[in-house]
Amino acid sequence: MAAVLAFVETSRGKLKKSAAEILGEGKRLAQKLGGTLDAVVVGHGVTALAGDAGKLGADRVLVADAEVFKAFGVDAYLKALVKAVAASSPRLFVMAASVVGKDLGPALAAATQSALLADVTSVAVADGKVRVEKPVYAGKAVATIAASSPMVVATLRPNVFVPAQPEDGRSAPVEVVDAGVKPDDLRAVVKEVLAKASEKLDLTEADIIVSGGRGMKGPENWGILEKLAEAVGGVLGASRAVVDAGWRPHEEQVGQTGKTVSPKLYIAVAISGAIQHLAGMRTSKCIVAINTDPEAPIFKVADYGIVGDALEVVPVLTEELRKLRE
Ligand SMILES: Cc1cc2nc3c(=O)[nH]c(=O)nc-3n(C[C@H](O)[C@H](O)[C@H](O)COP(=O)(O)OP(=O)(O)OC[C@H]3O[C@@H](n4cnc5c(N)ncnc54)[C@H](O)[C@@H]3O)c2cc1C
Repeated sequence: MAAVLAFVETSRGKLKKSAAEILGEGKRLAQKLGGTLDAVVVGHGVTALAGDAGKLGADRVLVADAEVFKAFGVDAYLKALVKAVAASSPRLFVMAASVVGKDLGPALAAATQSALLADVTSVAVADGKVRVEKPVYAGKAVATIAASSPMVVATLRPNVFVPAQPEDGRSAPVEVVDAGVKPDDLRAVVKEVLAKASEKLDLTEADIIVSGGRGMKGPENWGILEKLAEAVGGVLGASRAVVDAGWRPHEEQVGQTGKTVSPKLYIAVAISGAIQHLAGMRTSKCIVAINTDPEAPIFKVADYGIVGDALEVVPVLTEELRKLRE
């Protein structure tokens, strides 16, 4: 029996960046609860990754490795997680509030009759109860919620929790979870995932994001944002106005109906800072805004602001940042 069971995601033969955060926070909470930390890895050809989970602090690693888990599908993964819960009997189950976690978290909570605390930004243990904080009303308020079900499922917002540092030489026992899942048992099977060849980091995992808004005037001006992103080692984001106009793909949209991000640095270029945009980025550690309008709402949440025309400011800023990096 473990205090905490952490589901760690994998991608292209590696643990995802969120795994270190989930295991780092999982370890801290396991210590608070006075128990151990189990990790569960699900996928195809993922057994070799169990060692990485051990290096990141897991005391035991449960592995469900089968071809049926090759592409993510809620049905199959849920069966594996339910088996892992039975093997671990944790007080708390943690996973990333990623696309996968947002699908699996509610399903697992329902299957195990547990409370679901979704997209949380802090977790504490008080009087034996799990207590979390999460932004509500598009980030305008923070709710504190305590759960008292025997097991609690919490999805943790990416890029918020302190990641565990790998300890070379540390290892954990590995146990096979036989989920017994056959394709015929599943209501829906993902046959193939046609991923873009891009090696770009997902927005939710990026440390630095350069986001552009409608004030950029048109997609032809994105070249200067790409250069800025390159200079700071960041990835591109966008407001919904830009995505709706077809200037940028939806996968880049930040906000209430896009992605929720918490990078170390968020540069909002020519974005007004509508409440629905803020909902997706206000937990960024440092926010820089560039806007012609000194009254733009984005300046209310910005740590640094530049009032000016993005088409003039961004190339100069990029040049100066490049010099600093040389
Ligand atoms: C249900 C719902 C969900 C929504 N979800 C999202 C969401 O997920 N994400 C999201 O972003 N929005 C969302 N929206 C839309 C949101 O309300 C805003 O309409 C949108 O964020 C505006 O995008 P923008 O800031 O790029 O454009 P605008 O509001 O048009 O702002 C453009 C900004 O650029 C500035 N500007 C203009 N020219 C320049 C220049 N040359 N240099 C510098 N600055 C300049 C202007 O001063 C202005 O502040 C949602 C709305 C609804 C109703």
